[in-house]
Amino acid sequence: MKKLLPIFLLWSISASVLVAQTCNPHPKLVVGIVVDQMRFDYLERYKEKYGEGGFKRILGGGFSFKNAHFDYVPTETAPGHSSIYTGTTPSVHGIIGNSWFDRYQNKSVENIEDPAVLLVGTAQPATRGASPVNLRAETITDQLRWGSNFHSKVISVSFKDRGAILPGGHTPTGAYWLDTQTSPGYFVTSSYYTDAVPPWVSKFNALGKGNDYLDRTWNTLYPIETYTESAPDNNSYETILPGKSSPTFPYDFKAMRKDFQAAGNEYQLLWMSPWGNTMLTEFAEEAITSEQLGKGEATDMLCISYSVTDVMGHSFGPQSVEVEDIYLRLDQDLAGLMEFLDEQVGKDEYVLFLTADHGVVPVISQLDAYGIPSGIIPSNLYKDSLDQYLRARFGKKPWIQFFGHEYLYLNHFLIEHSEGADLEEIQEASAEFLRNLPNIRYALTASELQEEEYTDGVRRLMQHGFYPKRSGDVFLAYDPGFMVSYNPKATAKDIRGTGHGTAYNYDTQVPILWYGKSIPHGTSARQVHTTDIASSLAVLLDLQMPSGATQEPLLELFEK
Ligand code: ZN
Ligand code: ZN
Repeated sequence: MKKLLPIFLLWSISASVLVAQTCNPHPKLVVGIVVDQMRFDYLERYKEKYGEGGFKRILGGGFSFKNAHFDYVPTETAPGHSSIYTGTTPSVHGIIGNSWFDRYQNKSVENIEDPAVLLVGTAQPATRGASPVNLRAETITDQLRWGSNFHSKVISVSFKDRGAILPGGHTPTGAYWLDTQTSPGYFVTSSYYTDAVPPWVSKFNALGKGNDYLDRTWNTLYPIETYTESAPDNNSYETILPGKSSPTFPYDFKAMRKDFQAAGNEYQLLWMSPWGNTMLTEFAEEAITSEQLGKGEATDMLCISYSVTDVMGHSFGPQSVEVEDIYLRLDQDLAGLMEFLDEQVGKDEYVLFLTADHGVVPVISQLDAYGIPSGIIPSNLYKDSLDQYLRARFGKKPWIQFFGHEYLYLNHFLIEHSEGADLEEIQEASAEFLRNLPNIRYALTASELQEEEYTDGVRRLMQHGFYPKRSGDVFLAYDPGFMVSYNPKATAKDIRGTGHGTAYNYDTQVPILWYGKSIPHGTSARQVHTTDIASSLAVLLDLQMPSGATQEPLLELFEK
């Protein structure tokens, strides 16, 4: 005889099935994309040449914040990725730069440096490691893992170690980045996460894609004369790559490879290849398939950080044909990735956000040529003159321990053991002296940064970038258009290529784009910050906000 299920049980089964099938408000997968060094204007400037499936698809169906900024200095890669994923600034998460001076070790340390671990998956035995131990706050990826009791998977990939490690947080399923020092362009991880890379990673590495991509010649995607959005290809503002005699197309990687081979860093060329972004996209797609991202009950997350854009931006600057072409090709990679997501995860089943870790300063010599105020800060000269001043005023002792891009570190041990010497007094005297040097806009002491509250302008960004245990005694900011040079003889006219790190809009303004399940279509000109991304994701996924995140989700995303 057929046994009937009690009626309440039937009801509860059908109700829970119903809930799972129709009411799950969460996407199956969140894809976070950081394009290293992408300024906001690249979205609009190259628009005519973008295809329909990449940036234009995101803009056409998703939401664009047109006035989005970083809210601290220095605008560098490690603080950028950390701030996006923790939802807070270096003053809380502690990643105050790509590197910083450690006064106890008396040397500079890298953001992801970790002597307790080793790289895993390299071709040659590794001698160094990397991990997120220096990141002192939770990421949204940590929250996703904890919030799902580790049912959600988090995979983070990049060419740069910091581009993969910091977004992945402290508890990812996996974080992988490109190793060109001990491997022929392998994706590797570290013993912080695991003792061996999964088989799909080894399999991908064994394909030798790095070799294939290096045997190509880079020509512009479209006829070069149509690149009217950029300066002429041959100009004095761009870096000439090793193995080249001018900064011009075509780039014959097969030929350039020989020069790099002679220098023992052949695979480093991958960082300068537009196919570097393609290779990373292929690796990300392999991660989706092999780790079955978006296939489980809980929301998964994939973090991708494209690094080639940064390397090329440094070499050629934001007005170059090279950078334009890199973005047109990245646009194609994005289109392919989204098509892949449509098929693998489902067209309306994922959410994607795209932003950058910082922008970039126009090339100083190019600004100079057009009469826009610009120049260089001769850092070594400034250090020497401060040293002389402090010796004359406080006695002939080496008061300066380290003088970097943004920070002066005084010798605390010496000051403590010198009779009559007072740290605060020497800090103030140093700041006063530096403030009067040409093109130094602000010189704030550690005491000021801890006691005052700056509510707007550059000083607010400095305060947000200040982390007492790692930052120095005096924090410097320069005039707009100025960058540090360690070559005392350099003039603005000599500068080829560029950098980033300042508090000005060319460095702070980046895209924040959202696309996919439940994301409305529209744009906003409201001033928002990259630190708002993490709390927005927390709201979107009904998670507790990461420990330090600003409680300011992007409300436009939730308006119906
Ligand atoms: Zn960067
Ligand atoms: Zn950079």
